[in-house]
Amino acid sequence: MVTVRVPAKVNVQLGVGGVRPDGYHDLANVFFAVALGDQVTATSGPGVTLSCDGPDAAAVPLDDSNLAARAARLLAAHHGLADPGVHLHIDKAIPVAGGMAGGSADGAAALLACDALWGLDTPLPTLLELAAELGSDVPFALLGGVALGRGRGELLEPLPVSGTFHWVFAVADGGLSTPAVFRECDRLREESGLGSSLADVPTPDADPALLAALAEGDPVALAAALGNDLQAAAVSLRPALADTLHAGTEAGALAALVSGSGPTCAFLAKDADAAAHLATALRTSGTCRTAHATHGPVPGAQVVKTSA
Ligand code: ATP
Repeated sequence: MVTVRVPAKVNVQLGVGGVRPDGYHDLANVFFAVALGDQVTATSGPGVTLSCDGPDAAAVPLDDSNLAARAARLLAAHHGLADPGVHLHIDKAIPVAGGMAGGSADGAAALLACDALWGLDTPLPTLLELAAELGSDVPFALLGGVALGRGRGELLEPLPVSGTFHWVFAVADGGLSTPAVFRECDRLREESGLGSSLADVPTPDADPALLAALAEGDPVALAAALGNDLQAAAVSLRPALADTLHAGTEAGALAALVSGSGPTCAFLAKDADAAAHLATALRTSGTCRTAHATHGPVPGAQVVKTSA
């Protein structure tokens, strides 16, 4: 049996370029791994089977569309294992379809757990390549820390960061579809007259002020530099998010932003006490289902327990 712990992510910067001919958008994406995470436990068994526990478990598909199952099959195929045998149990704490890359996290965790269970010793660069095949957010869940993602987000450059930042995540009822949020972003750009094509939108790049704030471990400077080009689209599809963002700011957050494609909202706090206070205020605000205080950056997927 092998248990892997894997972090969720928040995008401290999510710059979205114009639509490329292949339908994707170029991103300048600064990923930040937080301690709020899932655990995936792999045990030997016939075929590839799944189970899931946690408040959102009912929303997690338990068929071959689950990224953890796809990861197990991909790793087995890469090594020519004709008959991969694994049961994957997901302890799910990351909100589902919440903009925190929970499915990608489970994919990364399953790669690592199956690699250890099957004694494959796959080198990290190969695991990262397999992760990129599974989805553009999967490699970061293996790497953790803070990293700049370019292209569709899959070309990763680790970034220097000092100290610990304290966050609160307000979980919404129900999810948002990431492709729908990108389409809404394009629609809003068209509607505003600016256009949404590659020629219309400047190529996004990492904000130097944001990189400096991370390197210096300065939460006030980071708060001033946070940015998410998908935020307006997420709020347009789910107008109630404006109330959640407002409630966190009123309760003393240094900054509030939608996490990735939403609907989870992220709040930066000045320290651990402020984060705990903010989480309580958000839980009682009536603007979210629940709120979690957490911190980061933390490492990527890691084996935390093995037993025969
Ligand atoms: P991202 O931020 O990467 O766009 P997200 O956090 O918004 O993703 P996920 O929790 O990854 O969203 O789920 C998106 C969809 O993926 C779900 O609605 C579900 O159908 C599917 N899915 C596949 N595997 C998983 C998994 N292991 N956990 C949760 N959802 C999964």
